[in-house]
Amino acid sequence: MLRAKKCDFDAKKQIKLRLRVLSEMGHPTDKVELIVMGGTFLAYPKDYQYQFIKDCFDALNGEESADLEEAKRVNETANHRCTGLCIETRPDWCGQEEIDRMLEFGTTRVELGVQTLDDEIYRLVRRGHKVEDVVKATTLLREHSFKVHYHWMPGLPGSTPEQDLELSRELFDDARFKPDGLKLYPTMVVEGTELERWYQENRYQPYDVNTMVNLMIDIKSIVPKYVRISRVVRDIPGKFIIAGCKNSDGGVVRRRMKQRAIECKCIRCREYGHRARDGWEIGEPQMVRMDYEASGGREIFLSFEDEAETLFGLLRMRIQSKPVSKLEPEMKGNSALIRELHIYGPEVPLSEQKEGAAQHKGLGKALLREAERIAGEEFQAPRMIILSGVGAREYYRTEFGYSLQGDYMVRDLSS
Ligand SMILES: [Zn+2]
Repeated sequence: MLRAKKCDFDAKKQIKLRLRVLSEMGHPTDKVELIVMGGTFLAYPKDYQYQFIKDCFDALNGEESADLEEAKRVNETANHRCTGLCIETRPDWCGQEEIDRMLEFGTTRVELGVQTLDDEIYRLVRRGHKVEDVVKATTLLREHSFKVHYHWMPGLPGSTPEQDLELSRELFDDARFKPDGLKLYPTMVVEGTELERWYQENRYQPYDVNTMVNLMIDIKSIVPKYVRISRVVRDIPGKFIIAGCKNSDGGVVRRRMKQRAIECKCIRCREYGHRARDGWEIGEPQMVRMDYEASGGREIFLSFEDEAETLFGLLRMRIQSKPVSKLEPEMKGNSALIRELHIYGPEVPLSEQKEGAAQHKGLGKALLREAERIAGEEFQAPRMIILSGVGAREYYRTEFGYSLQGDYMVRDLSS
C-alpha cells in the first residue's frame, strides 16, 4: 500500500520500481508472480481493471502493446515473465462474469475474503454476503482450475476462540471449502474504523494476545499438508493499530511453536528453500500422492518430499465430471485440470541454472507425466487442461507439447 501510494497507484511505475529494487537486491526477476492487492479489484470500473492489468504486462514487457491480448502474447517470451497472477476479491464478487474476466486477465490464483464461516457473524459485522456465497465462489474457481486461497480472520465480533477453532476445523473437514492456502489475519482494531468505535463503547473486546497466539498455534497444527499458510498477521504499521494482535505477534507464534515442538505441516513451512536456509538436512525426494474430495470433484495432490517431509515440488490436479465451460461444452466423461505445478529450488535465474536447479526441473517433468498418466489411465480423461501463468505457457509448449486453447494450455492424452 505504501509502495503503491509512492507511485501514485500507477501499475507501470510500481512494477518498474519493484523490478529494479529486487534485481538490486540480487533476486532473479525472470519469473514474476503478481498480486493485485487491496479492496475488491473486480468491483472497480471495468475499463480501469483492463487498463491496470494491461499496464502490468506492459511494464514487465518493457514495451507498449496495442491491447491486453497482445501484451499477454508478448509476455509469453519476455525477459520478465508473469508465471502467476493473483487477484483478491470477495465471495460475492466472484460469479461467472468475474471468472471469465479473470481468465482474460491471465489470473491463476484467487484470494477470497472469507474471514469466517458463520452467517450470524457475517450479519453482525455487516459483511454483506453469506456462507453460501463462499461455497459458490470456491466451486466456480476450482471448476475453472484456479488456485483458491482464503483470508481467515479469527476474533471477529460475535465469535469466541472455541468457535474460531471449530470453524477452522470445518474449513478442512467440509468438502465445500478445503482452500489451497490461507492467510491468517487476526482481527485488529484499526484507527478510524467503526470497530474502533465499538471498542471505545465497550461493544467489542479483542482476545488478549496470549489467547490469540494460542489460537493461531491450534489452527496451524490442524492444517492439512496440501495447504499453504502464506501469512500470519496482517502487515499494518503498529501506529494505526488501537487494539488486538500486532504485527510482531507473528514472530511470537513461531517461537512458541518451536518451544513446544509443535510443527506446522503447511507447504510454506516445508518448502525446500526455507528449510535449506534454516540449516535442515535435506534428503532424497520421493513422489507422494494424496487424494481428497473438494467442491464436487477429486483433488489429487502430488509432491516430491524427503523423509522429513521437506517439499521439493508439488502438483495440484482436479478430476471433475463437469466440462470446463467454453473450452469443451460438449465433452463427455472426466475433465482433468492442473491447477498448480510448482518446484521449489534455489532462486537462480533461468540463464544461470546450475546442476541443482536442473535436477529440480526434472522433478517438474516427473510430476506432470505422472499426473497425465493418472488422468488418462485411472480416469479416462481425454486431455489435460492447465491453467498456467501467461509467462509459463512457453514452458508447457516447448517442453511438453501443449498448445493454447482459449485461456488454457491443453494436450491430447490419447496420443
Ligand atoms: Zn506453516
